[in-house]
Amino acid sequence: MDIILLGPPGAGKGTQAQRLVEHHGMLQLSTGDMLRETRKADTELGHKVADIMDSGGLVSDEIVSAMIDAKLADMGPETGAIFDGYPRTAAQADQLDDILARHGRKLDHVIELEVNEEALVERITGRFTCANCGAGYHDVFKQPATPGVCDKCGSTEFKRRPDDNEETVRKRMQEYRGKTAPILPGYEQRGIVSRVDGMDSIEDVTHAIDAILTR
Ligand code: AMP
Repeated sequence: MDIILLGPPGAGKGTQAQRLVEHHGMLQLSTGDMLRETRKADTELGHKVADIMDSGGLVSDEIVSAMIDAKLADMGPETGAIFDGYPRTAAQADQLDDILARHGRKLDHVIELEVNEEALVERITGRFTCANCGAGYHDVFKQPATPGVCDKCGSTEFKRRPDDNEETVRKRMQEYRGKTAPILPGYEQRGIVSRVDGMDSIEDVTHAIDAILTR
């Protein structure tokens, strides 16, 4: 089963994708994570990607679609894919259709996480992760049990994404409204869109998604 998690930055796509990986053995394909790897490289592409990400703009459709294509080429047909942060434009949505067809796969669900944008700014600007194991935390909503120590691995190193500042977040939301939200009607026509209240607790959102996947 292949699904898209759609929603503005901070809607909880990454969190829910990780839970789907744990519960259903699916694979999370996050173009944001892939690009964060790309930007680490001291190459022309790495620098270009870093500049675009830090501005809150979108990396080219060809680059991200090629990344997804390569990941799917390595995946067995029995493993479900969770597209997280992809597609983000109409061109990417078309490219995904072609890529899936080429790999003999099909899209089963597009799950939109509906959220209140103002609350998202607070969610995003407060989030941080363990630098060692990647566990997610938040200044207000989810501090580690022992301050400064990761609950999962005990590390004391944490990091924040450079694009999680208010100015970049607002630009990322603008990109979502202008370029990503318009791809929904096409999926609606195919009857594969479900909506979930992304303002509910992480647990409740997971239950709602599980109910969609098993119906
Ligand atoms: P994310 O981790 O999904 O919030 O993505 C972080 C940043 O990576 C975005 O603000 C974009 O600059 C870039 N990015 C991630 N996925 C895509 C995509 N599918 N198309 C274009 N740019 C992307």
